Amino acid sequence: MQRLVIVSNRAPRPDEVSSGGLGACILDALHDHDAAWFGWSGDLVSNEGEISTTCARYDQLTQFTMPMTERDYREHYLGFCNAALWPVHHHRLDLARFAPECSEGYRRVNRRFARKVMSNLHANDLIWVQDYHFIPLGANLRMLGAANPLGFFLHIPFPTPEVLLAVPEHIWLVSSLCAYDVVGFQTNTDRQNFCRFVCGFLGGEAMSGNALRVGGKIVTAVVCPAGIDTDSFYGMATSRRAALQIKQLRRDGEPRINIIGVDRQDYTKGLPERLRSFRRLLELYPQNHKAATLMQIAPPSHEDVPAYAQIRQELEGLCGEINGQHGDVDWTPVRYICRNVAREALAALYRGSQVGLVTPLRDGMNLVAKEYVIAQDEDDPGVLVLSRFAGAAEDLREALIVNPYDPDEVAHAVQRAITMPREERIERHQALAARVRERDAHNWMTGFLRVLEAERSPALGCDYLAPMQQRRRARYAWMDARPMSAASSVAV
Ligand code: ADP
Repeated sequence: MQRLVIVSNRAPRPDEVSSGGLGACILDALHDHDAAWFGWSGDLVSNEGEISTTCARYDQLTQFTMPMTERDYREHYLGFCNAALWPVHHHRLDLARFAPECSEGYRRVNRRFARKVMSNLHANDLIWVQDYHFIPLGANLRMLGAANPLGFFLHIPFPTPEVLLAVPEHIWLVSSLCAYDVVGFQTNTDRQNFCRFVCGFLGGEAMSGNALRVGGKIVTAVVCPAGIDTDSFYGMATSRRAALQIKQLRRDGEPRINIIGVDRQDYTKGLPERLRSFRRLLELYPQNHKAATLMQIAPPSHEDVPAYAQIRQELEGLCGEINGQHGDVDWTPVRYICRNVAREALAALYRGSQVGLVTPLRDGMNLVAKEYVIAQDEDDPGVLVLSRFAGAAEDLREALIVNPYDPDEVAHAVQRAITMPREERIERHQALAARVRERDAHNWMTGFLRVLEAERSPALGCDYLAPMQQRRRARYAWMDARPMSAASSVAV
């Protein structure tokens, strides 16, 4: 059986990853395959000479992890991935910062990983690269002579061409994506944005089906929405422990209406806007006083980035204001939990909440929305209030879809959710749960890999692989101005 090679920013350790998440689901599926997974170890070293690879074997999976230098972390990870690509892809040009040394750091780390993958590659491997940290990795692999089927999945949104043009190296970036055989997107909108860019700025041409021809090469662009491991999550939400927790959540004397929000602290998640909408709910519908509580679980992320530190401050200020203005000795309107919660506990909190409030300003998919749906009691389900700007909104049409920028609209939707008759809740939930199950993590993975496998050339492993490699190497050589020989002295 062919081996699957995965590259992602972090390679999850099978013995540490919590069940139910996407990483866990990929690992589950890898049980049946020989697989190699390459990623950053999470460690930092002071210079390139100290970079060495750790290789760990878990049954059929081999993991290759490398540290980054402090400079790589600053330039590649914080500087280009987090301060340029993340805000641009989420339409926050006001927060985007571009610096030549950061884009060079991004190229450098991608070249290093490409060399590492290349030196461990078998002719028959399928290569699947994950997310925006590694956009140029495929072109780098081609330059090094890899002829294997190459797939890429973008977990975050693909911005409109007008926004992407703000990145100084937009042509290089999208051309790098076109080096893959298959590129997967979360939504139709993302795919359309990519196609518009390729056809409008790279001279590409739409072919039949999902194919685009660009620069004499075909790239297949598919929509393949990420999902959750529904069986595992449902199991957690319906466990005995979950039932006990829900009982505790609803015990006498506690508020009757639980509204839940679960998000990393990120400016894309619309957390301050959500709190303002909740305040508006209390103003517009005073009957919710002493009855409704918003539990916002929001672990901090990237605290070393100023934009993230600001959100935390704003969030904490708003929680204090709302609780001070509306709260009482026996009622805290906002319960704010600033840390990670065990997934089992999270599943119980979703199930015990009448409203799931998922209102990002922009989001690739938003798996929290899917988790909330699957955790519900089928006979008495809660209602999902979902931002129109979450990728999940393309599929989850039976949620109450809202504009997260409009506090009045969100407040009205939450009130509608609170007062929705049981029959309507059941009807909406059935449709939502069916779609979440249909597009679960397993189908996401197998759907993508099926398309990628179709790219497998019958020539692989044969004598004429060499000329094919040469052609591909020549085609991608222009993409990386810096000669590989200069970088290849770096220890990998
Ligand atoms: P993103 O990947 O942008 O953070 P998603 O909604 O797609 O957003 O996925 C977030 C994942 O992280 C979900 O599986 C969610 O359950 C999990 N998560 C978010 N916040 C917490 C938390 N405080 N504790 C535990 N898990 C969390």
